[in-house]
Amino acid sequence: MTGKLKSRWADEDEDAALEAQRKREKEEKKRAKADKQRRAEEAVREQQQQQEAAAAAEAEAHNGDISSRPTKRRKLTPEHSEPAVREELPLAKLLRFPAPQWKKCRSVEDYEKLNDIEEGAYGWVSRAKDMTTGKVVALKRLKMDNAHDGIPVTGLREIQTLMDCDHPNIITLREVVVGEDTTKIENIFLVLDFLEHDLKTLLEDMSEPFLNSEIKTLLQQLTSGVSYLHENWILHRDLKTSNLLLNNRGVLKIADFGMARYFGDPPPKMTQLVVTLWYRAPELLLGAEIYGTAVDMWSVGCIFGELLTKEPLLQGKNEVDELSKIFELCGIPTDDTWPGFKRLPNARSLRLPKNPVSQGSVLRAKFPFLTSAGSSLLVSLLELNPARRPSAREVLEHTFFREDPKPKSTEMFPTFPSKAGQEKRRRRVTPNAPARGKVPEIKATDFSGIFAGREDEEKGGGFSLKLI
Ligand code: ADP
Repeated sequence: MTGKLKSRWADEDEDAALEAQRKREKEEKKRAKADKQRRAEEAVREQQQQQEAAAAAEAEAHNGDISSRPTKRRKLTPEHSEPAVREELPLAKLLRFPAPQWKKCRSVEDYEKLNDIEEGAYGWVSRAKDMTTGKVVALKRLKMDNAHDGIPVTGLREIQTLMDCDHPNIITLREVVVGEDTTKIENIFLVLDFLEHDLKTLLEDMSEPFLNSEIKTLLQQLTSGVSYLHENWILHRDLKTSNLLLNNRGVLKIADFGMARYFGDPPPKMTQLVVTLWYRAPELLLGAEIYGTAVDMWSVGCIFGELLTKEPLLQGKNEVDELSKIFELCGIPTDDTWPGFKRLPNARSLRLPKNPVSQGSVLRAKFPFLTSAGSSLLVSLLELNPARRPSAREVLEHTFFREDPKPKSTEMFPTFPSKAGQEKRRRRVTPNAPARGKVPEIKATDFSGIFAGREDEEKGGGFSLKLI
């Protein structure tokens, strides 16, 4: 082999010519740039001279009075001087945030299903055993209305609020597990502490209502949980007896946080289609979009009444009927008892009797066996005006809990056979439970009607609400 192998791509003569041409072009560009700069400088100089000449001519015209000359010449070129003192900036430091410790969700296959507890129109809850610890838990499948939209906000709120809670009267969320097929978003389960009863089923099955001392224990625990929620800026928005669980040691825990959400001060605008109808506060029925902890306190009042009689207190068939039943039991609102209620959206078309004197609360008459402390507590919880309802903390301080009979200690609480620990039950869904898995919206037919008081009844001091 002789000499150096010539590259297939290189052609030295041609390359040299190209290089020379590139150099020439570069020189030309440089020259053109210098020319342009020179011309610009000359133009500035010329303009300066013209201005000086004009100023001199003007001065002459003013008999050489130089005081009339502008003291400062207009700057034609920007000054590129450095600032006198330049602040020494400290070297920027990057902030470090600890990365979250992501933990992989365990599989639902780690649990052995024992029996279904609830399989209703909305939900699915089972009793199951953790195969590693042997602990019995409740598995609740997260509701998905439309799996394509991802996890509904209600599901996310249920997980978020429950994860943030740590209180003996609030159900413990142990973990979130997923089905084997992780591509299916509907396979998300909450692992909750298992409790033997819910108060609704228990009340339905009991032949006699709870004793007063037992009602106090239950109400105290419920209020204690609600107080914790409210002090931590959480509204439950679906308190009812089927969402209150009880174990065989007399401990009550608030469950079902599907409607719960954080609120603020002042509270934000929220949907009024929350809380199951029979436990829904009048301000929600009247369409208030700004409401607060008092909506939960109204539900506590309804639950108190239900514990006393074993029957839901206000079993309205629809929103209008519910409101009508509320007014029958708790009286008719007036501008004095509830200032501003007429400004609520659904109250504009509400026609109430002109002489509501005889339309006061009949709660005391309905519960004649309650002590005056007991009935004053019930009446205050079922105040139409939300501002008049006591806070959960105030309820806990109420004399009702200090007078005899005292609240029964949980260890002394009776035990009942557990339905949840046995066969599956299909429950009648409480009417008008708020829609799950989607932001509820008001249908035109829901509350678009107009309330009208019947003239004859108005005259007689009675009232009736009718949808026209
Ligand atoms: P949904 O959102 O479908 O209403 P819930 O959380 O209210 O679901 O549960 C429905 C029912 O399942 C409850 O009324 C109760 O009877 C039962 N349940 C729920 N959680 C538990 C639990 N941790 N232990 C025992 N039973 C439970």
